[in-house]
Amino acid sequence: MTAVLETPIEKTPLERYVPPAKPSLVGLTRGALADALGAVGVPASQHKMRVQQIWHWLYVRGAKDFSQMTSVSKELRALLDTHYTLARPEVVAEQVSVDGTRKWLLRLPGEVAGERPHEVECVYIPESDRGTLCLSSQVGCTLNCSFCHTGTQRLVRNLTAGEIVGQIMVARDRLGDFVGAERAQGPGVPTAGDRVVSNIVMMGMGEPLYNFEAVRDALLVASDGDGLAISKRRITLSTSGIVPMMERAGAELGVMLAVSLHAVRDDLRDQLVPVNRKYPIADLLAACRNYPGLSNTRRITFEYVMLKGVNDSLADAKALVRLLSGIPAKINLIPFNPWPGSNYQCSDWEQIERFSEIIFDAGYASPVRTPRGRDILAACGQLKSATEKLSAPERLALRAMAMTD
Ligand code: SAH
Ligand code: SF4
Repeated sequence: MTAVLETPIEKTPLERYVPPAKPSLVGLTRGALADALGAVGVPASQHKMRVQQIWHWLYVRGAKDFSQMTSVSKELRALLDTHYTLARPEVVAEQVSVDGTRKWLLRLPGEVAGERPHEVECVYIPESDRGTLCLSSQVGCTLNCSFCHTGTQRLVRNLTAGEIVGQIMVARDRLGDFVGAERAQGPGVPTAGDRVVSNIVMMGMGEPLYNFEAVRDALLVASDGDGLAISKRRITLSTSGIVPMMERAGAELGVMLAVSLHAVRDDLRDQLVPVNRKYPIADLLAACRNYPGLSNTRRITFEYVMLKGVNDSLADAKALVRLLSGIPAKINLIPFNPWPGSNYQCSDWEQIERFSEIIFDAGYASPVRTPRGRDILAACGQLKSATEKLSAPERLALRAMAMTD
């Protein structure tokens, strides 16, 4: 398990959770922010300027309170404070692993007043040349992929754009990654200069293309150059293959795409990723070929979880290479992360090596980067699960492969 360097923040009992009384402005698009200003009487002629000011304080400076917005008039600050907050999701626990991976457990209000609050995790993985934040798009997931722990939880609800952006805000708050903030101490945090959170992957809980509008709005806020400024090339959305939404994702959002393929035959993919019955492999790959903006410098990453004796034969590896020919692609082999009650095992290390050799020989050259933040596998693949059955060196080696670029 993750070695914890910092004591988790004391968790308040769920029963004592108090949902926020006022709405937060975090995560609103510029248009929605202007509407929020209009709703409290700010004249339309001021909207553009005010939005720009608030945007800067919120996303560049990380303001948590309207009183910090010194370039905004006192009257307007007071007015905003009466109606709104700049609140992020409540952080109920933080863990820092020896390799610098950080996990935050966040608490979100239930959909209906008085309902139990929900919890989602958000994970930060530092590497030598980047710091990646893994975000959730839903609480739970409606798609029951047979190897995924999240899929065993009933869908509780979609996250709002504010809650998705809120995960980035929490990470930047905790890491001291806003202009003028003091950098957090600890492994993996650059002391100065570079951005701490440089990349985003939508690979936490949920299927992002089943919560498209909120994910789109959140990622457009995240990539806005005057704010959080995370370039779209550094944002990757992972989908299980919701074919009808893929073109919209490319056209309206234009971030990098990762596709959870996991099998090369429909009969097997039907079992592993049941949404395949609706959108079979041929349709999925056609949607990939048509993904707007696809080129050799903007490749699709195909994720392939290594399940012992299920999808890891060398014939599968050859079929995978054939299947993807002609698509600008990267292949990401993910060691299966077991969770209590799962029916699969991770492929043997030797088998993964042989499998990857076939892929390598087909021209998918992948430099092995320093394996950092390998605990993210636990986070992305099996949120909230605590088992890690592989030995440390195995995990290291496997992670190094999975992190190839
Ligand atoms: N719903 C989206 C994104 C979240 S899952 C999707 O399925 O793509 C992120 C990645 O982790 C997916 O490729 C998913 O198939 C993989 N994954 C899920 N459970 C896993 C597990 N137990 N071990 C390894 N990878 C897993
Ligand atoms: Fe949902 Fe992705 Fe898990 Fe499948 S792998 S159940 S789509 S989160």
